[in-house]
Amino acid sequence: MSFSSLGLSDAIVRAVTEHGYTVPTPIQTQAIPAVLAGGDLLAGAQTGTGKTAGFTLPVLHRLSTDANGAAITSNSSTRPIRALILAPTRELAAQVEESVRAYSKYTKLNSTVIFGGVGINPQIKQLKHGVDILVATPGRLLDHMGQGTVDLSKVEILILDEADRMLDMGFIRDIKKVLAVLPPKRQNLLFSATFSEEIKALADGLLNKPAMIEVARRNSTVEVIKQKIHPVDRDKKHPMLSYLIKSNNWTQVLVFTRTKHGANKLVEQLGADGIGALAIHGNKSQSARTRALSEFKDGTLQVLVATDIAARGIDIDQLPHVVNYDLPNIPEDYVHRIGRTGRAGAKGEAVSLVCVDEHEMLKDIEKLIKQTLPREVIEGFEPDLNARAQPVQLRSGTGGHRNNSRAPAGAVVRVKTGGGGAKPRSAGPSGGGGGGGNRSGNAPRSAASHRSGGRGR
Ligand code: AMP
Repeated sequence: MSFSSLGLSDAIVRAVTEHGYTVPTPIQTQAIPAVLAGGDLLAGAQTGTGKTAGFTLPVLHRLSTDANGAAITSNSSTRPIRALILAPTRELAAQVEESVRAYSKYTKLNSTVIFGGVGINPQIKQLKHGVDILVATPGRLLDHMGQGTVDLSKVEILILDEADRMLDMGFIRDIKKVLAVLPPKRQNLLFSATFSEEIKALADGLLNKPAMIEVARRNSTVEVIKQKIHPVDRDKKHPMLSYLIKSNNWTQVLVFTRTKHGANKLVEQLGADGIGALAIHGNKSQSARTRALSEFKDGTLQVLVATDIAARGIDIDQLPHVVNYDLPNIPEDYVHRIGRTGRAGAKGEAVSLVCVDEHEMLKDIEKLIKQTLPREVIEGFEPDLNARAQPVQLRSGTGGHRNNSRAPAGAVVRVKTGGGGAKPRSAGPSGGGGGGGNRSGNAPRSAASHRSGGRGR
């Protein structure tokens, strides 16, 4: 199977081939002909499956060729927006647009991306200039709609990417406002990793007799990813991570923490150990996030520490190492996290540093992925078998479950130091480290401010 045999134009096949891809992934094999046929599509696919090219390539083909498949050469100076791609986060939007740009290289089409956290004026200028394909986060798109700086009246194709995450992040009303200004006759593509009742309701209202495709959930494709659990005491996580990075000579490591505070603290600790690290999370400015991501991608930054929302959609080819410094309290996030490695068949390694507080979370994860992960105790970091579990600090603004994602900040539990039955430590009462601690005086943020941090506004 090749891209040209799927019916894509030479210009697009050439750009994909230059990108290094010759064999379509399963989602591409199914989505490309379906989108080329012109109907609506409901696709179940996660990041890592090649879904972006799965919708980008046929959309580019449809916009750049006429009904006979010949290239459209006229280049009108008044270019209306013909395709709109909505994505939940700034990072994902930027990456999708990067793909659109790469794959449209040999067509006359142009694209731009708009998201919050950066100045609106350059975006207004871009939009005025004329754009064929617009990639946007919903919040910023609404800002432009409010200011009358974007015209969506000529959109022919709408793509909702990671629709489930957009709903999780509370974007449903924004999406509906966008839908209301689009021309009724258009092609709609909805991509989602999961199919909740909410997604089904959205799909029912949006899609007209859609083709339906679903590729294997990542849970079932993780065989290429070597997974390991390192049991460890909560206050030994940081020295263990430094040890692992140094002794294994890891040069490009993506580390997940549960909280923004934990991410910042770990960056400082690694820095003190001589390991270059930066954090990305919702409280970081867009420029800081972009810089960290690009340095990490080009290999100049050794460690990128991320929270789940910020990392959503990060696309780095063949990332060799993912570390769960804290286990996620939402089991599905484990699958998303480790999916950053072992992409498109490449081998990867995902290790989780698990302390006694996280045993229940580990159980939930193993239940979801239907496997028991191998445990490997590292010499010198043997956990105290008598240690008792303490409450863990969940990421601010969320409860322990997806359906409770608007739990008040009161869901944040401060880890007690030294108490709770944990083994007395000779190093003094500085327990509660390992990313689980929350310094007194560091007041929990409100749920609303946390959510806006990771959103596209
Ligand atoms: P996505 O699911 O769109 O985030 O893509 C996951 C990763 O797979 C990205 O790094 C893509 O560049 C890569 N990829 C996309 N299509 C292919 C392909 N046909 N062969 C190999 N890798 C691909």
